Amino acid sequence: MTRRSSRDYYGILGIARDADAEAVKKAYRRLALQHHPDRNPENKEAEEKFKEATEAYEVLRDPEKRARYDRFGEAGTGGGAAAAPGYGVDLSEALRAFMRDFGGMEFDSFFRGASRPDHRGEDIRVRVRLSLEEIASGTKKRLRVRKNLPCSQCGGRGGSGETSCARCGGAGQVRHVQRSLFGQFINVSVCPECRGEGVRLSDVCPSCRGEGRETAEESIPIVVPAGVAAGNYLPLRGFGHAGVRGGPAGDLFIVFDEKPHALFARRERDLICELPLSPPQATLGTEVEVPTLEGKTSLEVPAGTQSGKVLRLRGKGLPGLNGSGHGDLLVRVVVKTPTTLTGRERELYDELASLSGRQAPRRPRKSFLDRVKDALGG
Ligand SMILES: [Zn+2]
Ligand SMILES: [Zn+2]
Repeated sequence: MTRRSSRDYYGILGIARDADAEAVKKAYRRLALQHHPDRNPENKEAEEKFKEATEAYEVLRDPEKRARYDRFGEAGTGGGAAAAPGYGVDLSEALRAFMRDFGGMEFDSFFRGASRPDHRGEDIRVRVRLSLEEIASGTKKRLRVRKNLPCSQCGGRGGSGETSCARCGGAGQVRHVQRSLFGQFINVSVCPECRGEGVRLSDVCPSCRGEGRETAEESIPIVVPAGVAAGNYLPLRGFGHAGVRGGPAGDLFIVFDEKPHALFARRERDLICELPLSPPQATLGTEVEVPTLEGKTSLEVPAGTQSGKVLRLRGKGLPGLNGSGHGDLLVRVVVKTPTTLTGRERELYDELASLSGRQAPRRPRKSFLDRVKDALGG
């Protein structure tokens, strides 16, 4: 074990150097309850904090150790350099120290909640796919959700004739005194007879077998605000599965998803679409009708527009959540080169080609291979 730097026990407990014994105890109790392993299962950080607080408490609660610590620092608490770093408690020592001073009723009442079975119903996630039109305007929907509801036969109680569990006296937990190297300590565990319930039903409901809930379908109206995006979710507290035997219901999470749109892609609040134009339209400029989510609108294409050019229609995108402004519609021009021409069109293209100083190809056109041969002088 390596020697650690001296720890600030007062700082760990968050108390002044002249704090009295009562203040030391109070500060430790608060920290120990907060970081106790029973409340923080599998949490190494909490365990370290619990041990550290206990170490500080073990020194500062003892007037002699505290006086030595005040004079010599941490090394003073362990009985000399040989034993340094003096304290450094392990988890079982820390738990024992805590139980020694805070066992009894206080511990019980604090931890009872944690050892009781969890009667809260499970949460439910439901995916709802929306079209861009629905996202643009917001919408109302009715969801049919299959879930656990309170049992209609017993009203969710699970039965009748509730009596206190004889084994644990209604506490839901039983204690065993255990002996170890360090002395006697009390081990608290969930009552095996009532599985922590504390009560037994003499007349169990045959319909739900005592669980107090049954599967049924519920129709739930939801309001989808305008502007939601894929992955946004709407939590509906208490609309999840019913709890066991009258326990609180879980939550329903509605997770939004987006249906792909035939014309538009979405980039946050902006919408993107393509606008095919013929070479004359792009060259001369034109006014075209373009689709939006709320119907058609006209768009001015300036003369000399290049393929790939993005024209912006302000405010024709999607609304932001919470009523923030609309995005834009981005119209990307794609000039479509014709692949078949009528006779008249070919004449005109030929004429255009000769105007721009280039020989129109003779007909019938030579094959690619013939042209290669020409080029090579063969
Ligand atoms: Zn029932
Ligand atoms: Zn019991």
